[in-house]
Amino acid sequence: MNAAQTAGAQRTEPAEDRTGGCLCGRIRFTAQGPAVFPHTCECGHCQKLGGTPVMWWVGFKTVTWIGEGGEPTWYETFPGEAKRGFCPTCGSRVAAIDSDIPEIGINVTALDDTSGEDLVPIHASFHDNAVRWLPSVAKTEPTTAS
Ligand SMILES: [Zn+2]
Ligand SMILES: [Zn+2]
Repeated sequence: MNAAQTAGAQRTEPAEDRTGGCLCGRIRFTAQGPAVFPHTCECGHCQKLGGTPVMWWVGFKTVTWIGEGGEPTWYETFPGEAKRGFCPTCGSRVAAIDSDIPEIGINVTALDDTSGEDLVPIHASFHDNAVRWLPSVAKTEPTTAS
């Protein structure tokens, strides 16, 4: 999370709290704010860390760790720039923090409810690294922001 975030002006909707956590339940969190840039990623890190051909990500402005395990264990994939959070007990991937992205990244699969329309991926990152048998998500990313 970013300490330098007091952003005043643009609060349009009341933040909807979502909950999530790891498989064993020791890592639990609430996520506040709109779902930002839901996307899939097929980069080498997502594949290796996730044990899966593709990971599903979304950003939230604020994430609060509320489970008995506290924060996930962080592994720096790019030291000083990016780190991934996982449960040290069950190994579930739950989050990521990138120094150049204001939101905290959440693995959508860690959310208790993944059915939200605002979680449907709008972008496929690193699709050129995808396994050849997996179709890409439909690109619905708006061409202009706001
Ligand atoms: Zn766990
Ligand atoms: Zn990735």
